Amino acid sequence: MTTRPDVIIIGGGISGAATAFELARHGIPTTLLEAGDIASMASGWTLAGVRQSGRHPAELPLAEAAVKRWPGLATELGVDDIEYRQQGNLRLALIESDIPEIREVVAEGARAGIEMHLLDSNAAIRDIAPALATDLPAASWCPTDGHANPTKTVRAFVDAARRAGAEIRTNTPVRAIPYDGTRVTGVEIDGETLQAAVVIVAAGIYTPRLLAPLGIEIPMAITLVTALQTTPVEPTLAQVLGQVGGGVALRQQVSGHFRITGMTEPWSGHDHTHDSVQPRLSRIRDLVTDAARLVPSLLDARINETWGGLIDQTPDALPVIERAPEYDNLVYATGFSGHGFCLGPITGEILADLAVEGTTSHPIAPFARSRFAGELDVESITLHG
Ligand SMILES: Cc1cc2nc3c(=O)[nH]c(=O)nc-3n(C[C@H](O)[C@H](O)[C@H](O)COP(=O)(O)OP(=O)(O)OC[C@H]3O[C@@H](n4cnc5c(N)ncnc54)[C@H](O)[C@@H]3O)c2cc1C
Repeated sequence: MTTRPDVIIIGGGISGAATAFELARHGIPTTLLEAGDIASMASGWTLAGVRQSGRHPAELPLAEAAVKRWPGLATELGVDDIEYRQQGNLRLALIESDIPEIREVVAEGARAGIEMHLLDSNAAIRDIAPALATDLPAASWCPTDGHANPTKTVRAFVDAARRAGAEIRTNTPVRAIPYDGTRVTGVEIDGETLQAAVVIVAAGIYTPRLLAPLGIEIPMAITLVTALQTTPVEPTLAQVLGQVGGGVALRQQVSGHFRITGMTEPWSGHDHTHDSVQPRLSRIRDLVTDAARLVPSLLDARINETWGGLIDQTPDALPVIERAPEYDNLVYATGFSGHGFCLGPITGEILADLAVEGTTSHPIAPFARSRFAGELDVESITLHG
């Protein structure tokens, strides 16, 4: 059977879901195909910090645009609450020698026009976050950063897209993207070929694999992050915490659960399975130690759940977002390198613009794939919520 939706989106994480919403609300016939469940990969595994502070300058305009949109997002999507809370982000110095980096983060933020403060004493830090350890010497403080419930957010995007007319198909892996000359013709799913005027690939770590047969190479390392959630505890912490060097990052969810993520490590799997992404006990031990270093009362909390999250890491830790130069009607966004949740609402705008207009007013030139052909600033990945 062959059908003809105008735009097909591959991937039901925040990038694909936000794109489906943008297209559907502008009356574009849209089908979103998700291999598993909605938000079943990075967009569900994430810490879900919504942060401008400490961003690479190339990503900052997108993060700022996103932070303008997040406060009204629940209303836009027609839901009561996506648990977005604009309660700030603290990046902590653990020892005196970390302080210059904190000063630099504050100075960079100030240069970019973001409200950033240097907290240069433990008393100043604990004025804002009383649960933090008494020996932390300094922090940067960005009050306009925040956090949200990732699964609720992505589902809200999907539900709003569906109400606006989009078709959403879960448990529908795309096997291939057929093409004819300089145009892609649609997608192949099990037992069916769907034709489309435009195909958008927002398939996270699997995007390079879908694009490789079309001659599109995206360099990507897949790394694994250990994550842990406690059972609910009393309200203890409003902010998202990160630290110099990007070790542990954590926040307390609106539900009271603490959500904690750790360092990345190489992942050698091919197709992810429940077992192949489970963290090792030694990593859980390290994560607990590092988290309690910041919030000592965490040692009394109970573990609710642990999981591993895979990261789509590019060599310069910046995403790849573009309309393919080689194909007239193929668009993709991937490689968010551990910071694409915050950007989701704007990624949706960009991908919808690229699909419909072929261009966008958002500044995406730094995210072209062609940059990998030249000299790159190779960045190690740091997660900061
Ligand atoms: C542990 C962890 C902590 C993080 N912390 C933060 C944070 O604090 N702040 C922040 O901004 N970002 C954070 N990130 C990054 C952020 O979560 C991701 O960048 C973002 O969720 C990526 O969304 P996506 O929609 O592009 O990809 P994904 O959420 O991975 O979605 C891709 C979807 O495509 C589907 N798919 C794949 N292949 C196919 C196929 N062939 N056919 C159909 N469907 C397919 C997958 O099943 C998946 O659902 C974190 C990530 C992790 C893992």
